[in-house]
Amino acid sequence: MNIKESNGWKCGECGTSYTHRVEGSGKAKEAAEKCCICPDCGKPKGHNMGDKRCSKCTDIYFAKLGHERMKKRIEVEYDGRLVLSDGNDFFYDEDGLYEWFDKYEWFEDLPEWLTVCGRHDLSLDIDSILENALTDEHHEEAGEQICNEDKAKVQVALDELCKNAKVESYSEGYKHKVSVAKLVLAYNLTQFEDGAKEALAGE
Ligand SMILES: [Zn+2]
Ligand SMILES: [Zn+2]
Repeated sequence: MNIKESNGWKCGECGTSYTHRVEGSGKAKEAAEKCCICPDCGKPKGHNMGDKRCSKCTDIYFAKLGHERMKKRIEVEYDGRLVLSDGNDFFYDEDGLYEWFDKYEWFEDLPEWLTVCGRHDLSLDIDSILENALTDEHHEEAGEQICNEDKAKVQVALDELCKNAKVESYSEGYKHKVSVAKLVLAYNLTQFEDGAKEALAGE
């Protein structure tokens, strides 16, 4: 299946070359053999060539990773102001949460946790802007020709710009989580109440 080349071996599946120089002497053949094989199950990766694993093992890997990350998050109480996410959608307020709950019929179909999202505000820093602007075309001491007083004035203007722009972006956070069962009880979602009580009793 693998093809011998003058300087190493080539994977017969995807054509990637493994040279003795890069892999180390005697290891190029092994590298070419392993190239399109899933390291987890040892079967051919099939059409999943861009990934390290076959599609089945990729799913298992990310499910496990997601589970471990969730376990590490610390539980916090929802105060109505946190931005939450189920991994797909973001809930910016209580109305958003209610709408999300409405999509479900059974408590069992709900995830156990929602994650607390991290907030990113816009910030601009004169030093990093200058660093980007002073490319290789400029001489090495070019930055020193800019007066600190001028930089400070620009920084004040940049801070003002960011404050007025009110840019708020959120992304899934890795630190905190909120219990869905506790949300159900706190918001009197009677259709899920029995399931939520059972889940919390079973903890
Ligand atoms: Zn390959
Ligand atoms: Zn696999």
